[in-house]
Amino acid sequence: TILITGATGQLGRLTIDSLLTRGADPQTLVAGARDLSKAADLAERGIRVVTLDYDDAESVSAALDGVDSVLLVSGSEVGKRTAQHKAVIDAAKAAGVTKLVYTSAPKATTSDLVLAPEHKATEELIADSGVPAVILRNNWYTENYAGNVAQAATSGVLAASVGDGRVASASRRDYADAAAVVLLEEGHIGEVYELAGDVAWNFDELAATIAEVVGRPVEYQALSSEEHAATLAAAGLDEGTIGFVTALDAGIRGGALADTDGTLARLIGRPTTPLVEGLRAAA
Ligand code: NDP
Repeated sequence: TILITGATGQLGRLTIDSLLTRGADPQTLVAGARDLSKAADLAERGIRVVTLDYDDAESVSAALDGVDSVLLVSGSEVGKRTAQHKAVIDAAKAAGVTKLVYTSAPKATTSDLVLAPEHKATEELIADSGVPAVILRNNWYTENYAGNVAQAATSGVLAASVGDGRVASASRRDYADAAAVVLLEEGHIGEVYELAGDVAWNFDELAATIAEVVGRPVEYQALSSEEHAATLAAAGLDEGTIGFVTALDAGIRGGALADTDGTLARLIGRPTTPLVEGLRAAA
């Protein structure tokens, strides 16, 4: 059996879709949800739904009982994630899991991306646990830019402090397909896959692509970190969020998301979703 954590989230759901499309028997799948009321549709598809809250170790152990493979979808509560992931890794070890697949971040162990430390710590916990594992270092989701599409539709401006940094984004579905492939195929144990879209685009190209989607000219306004922070403050964002956004942009400016080597396309057996298609679907 294969357990998917965060099954009620976007990547979790898409991975379940992909597993079913690839012929997985629903009865071999277990959906882990912290809120069962969000998982009714999964149960309707014949998938066993279990309570799995990263903050509740007992629920994690119970969910992992009798499970062979696990997709640990990294949590969404930044700052709490290392401890949360540890609960799943410990339970996977206790349950004798033979394949633990984890969604990490690009070059997690060496990246200076503000999000990297929790992923690095998690990768280290996995290695120390000795549980056979596969690391999927997912680059950005194209869907992360849905908000920019909406904003540019009214303002004609894409403002960011990424300089000429490039992002090799792919659609969530691409990453979900890779997770399904790695879960269903024999092997992959010990691999650390850097997964990214086929094309690393810069923000002039993103602006041009958004223009295509919204049907009006869109200009990339390249801001310094300070200018960006001031713009975000004027828009009413709190200090923590402003610091986070500008740190992420600084990471992109430094090239943290720029690399792509075709591994994702190879794993899923098709090109990754082009930026324009991904933005259209997300808008
Ligand atoms: P979502 O926010 O849609 O899904 C996150 C899932 O994690 C949800 O199912 C959520 O449960 C679950 N979750 C959060 N906290 C807990 C907890 N304490 N116990 C159990 N489950 C929990 O994110 P995505 O599916 O879009 O992305 C998956 C992950 O990838 C994110 O959680 C984040 O770590 C990372 N990410 C990557 C990005 C990228 O561009 N590569 C961008 C954004 C995030 P519930 O459904 O109840 O909320």
